[in-house]
Amino acid sequence: MAQNETWYETLHAGFGQYFSVDNVLYREKTEHQDLVIFENAAMGRVMALDGVVQTTERDEFIYHEMLTHVPLLAHGAAKSVLIIGGGDGGMLREVCRHAQLERITMVEIDADVVNFCKTWLPNHSAGAYDDPRFQLVIDDGVNFVTQTDQTFDLIISDCTDPIGPGESLFTSAFYAGCKRCLNDNGIFVAQNGVCFLQQDEAVTSHTKLGHYFGDVSFYQAAIPTYYGGIMTFAWASDNPALRQLDVGTLQTRFEAAGLTCRYYNPAIHTGSFALPQYLLNALSANG
Ligand code: SAM
Repeated sequence: MAQNETWYETLHAGFGQYFSVDNVLYREKTEHQDLVIFENAAMGRVMALDGVVQTTERDEFIYHEMLTHVPLLAHGAAKSVLIIGGGDGGMLREVCRHAQLERITMVEIDADVVNFCKTWLPNHSAGAYDDPRFQLVIDDGVNFVTQTDQTFDLIISDCTDPIGPGESLFTSAFYAGCKRCLNDNGIFVAQNGVCFLQQDEAVTSHTKLGHYFGDVSFYQAAIPTYYGGIMTFAWASDNPALRQLDVGTLQTRFEAAGLTCRYYNPAIHTGSFALPQYLLNALSANG
């Protein structure tokens, strides 16, 4: 792919998005995936894996703020977080902003993604890889959660779509492993696709998670480069109260955490658990 070409996303048949390529910064066939990082006038630096946009400089904050501050402020007393995937470093950056955390582990299958994003997407990790609380493990996330003796208060699955290496992170084995290494009152969240276009993925995740967790639902946000509508985030715990906190409680915790965000606020938090009727219908039709 050369400068001034056009890059077409290949996630969905017959419907998609494109980016003009102003400058290719890096392209590599890693051991696991085809990685490209290029510059685009509208969205800044764009990273794609196997033809699917993973993150862009311009709108990454929405996704990373929602997958971290919603579960962490809902939990209220988390000390340990496990990130599965997350090689671009944006999720780690937002998790590290919570000073009360004592241990942050990231399990990423592809060391090349971490290394190239440190160089070519430095604003994503913004130095978070140097946080003394942080440990990086290079492994398939499903191996880690089924074998580790560590436990966590929050698990965030920041994975690719369920194609290629990401497929294992949408399996019952993975969800069982996450349940196995979550502490009491723990929360599991995961990127679960754009439900208007990937509704089956949401229904399947909901069913599988329901075998291991007492309270399974979704919350959502609209992220421009995950096009096609709202992105759904899977939510699973054994305590329904964790996703029903009132705005006042969340505001108190938000202020105590000293967070300033560009998308997240307590009203967005509570509102994000409201889901479109077509998704609710699909979830209830599937039992
Ligand atoms: N924001 C993106 C999204 O919603 O599609 C995800 C971004 S992040 C770059 C996805 C990461 O998941 C990549 O670094 C990829 O290497 C990693 N990954 C894919 N499959 C994995 C697996 N089985 N175990 C651990 N990491 C995995």
